[in-house]
Amino acid sequence: MKSLEEKILREGKVLPGGVLKVGSFLNHQIDADFIMEMGREIARLFEGAGVTKILTVEASGIAIAIGAGAAMHVPVLFAKKSKTVNISGDVYQTVIHSFTHGVDYHVMVEKQFLQPDDKVLIVDDFLANGKAIEGLMNLATQSDATVVGVACAIEKGFQQGGDALRGQGLRVESLAIVERMDENGVVFRTQ
Ligand code: 5GP
Repeated sequence: MKSLEEKILREGKVLPGGVLKVGSFLNHQIDADFIMEMGREIARLFEGAGVTKILTVEASGIAIAIGAGAAMHVPVLFAKKSKTVNISGDVYQTVIHSFTHGVDYHVMVEKQFLQPDDKVLIVDDFLANGKAIEGLMNLATQSDATVVGVACAIEKGFQQGGDALRGQGLRVESLAIVERMDENGVVFRTQ
């Protein structure tokens, strides 16, 4: 998505440790118009896939997930993070290792919001090592829902998550794929 690449070039900052900061429009301050534009692009890519629900994880996936959910007219469910395991039987839960914070999070969704006949599109802001997406797939699988694909705003193509998920036969669509980045700038993969 050309407009996303241009926005990253204009507003993104590359931090040490391979972290791209896009706090001006996606991760801190939210550019609501642009979120809706990205959501429409995700809806276009997955048109006809029969998506019934968007699944993401709090907090930074929620904005783009809402963009997609609004464009596709389906509910947006976000996995909630908690420090402890929830022992009640009414939730699906798993553990996600956070790339940016270096810690493990227990995440959960209430069982009532994921049904076996759901066709789930997993949406997130970034795809790096793929741990967040794997955790969300795990939650969907526990519910016997079908995962129709993954959409993320920015994939870091120099980390292996996206290619590993595609290697499993999963449809993964990234609106921008960063091929490499350093203090001199960001280079995108041609899609
Ligand atoms: P993964 O689980 O694929 O390794 O990492 C994805 C998650 O880590 C995303 O949900 C995102 O919040 C965070 N993340 C990974 N890389 C970056 C990055 O370069 N910049 C920002 N802002 N978040 C990132």
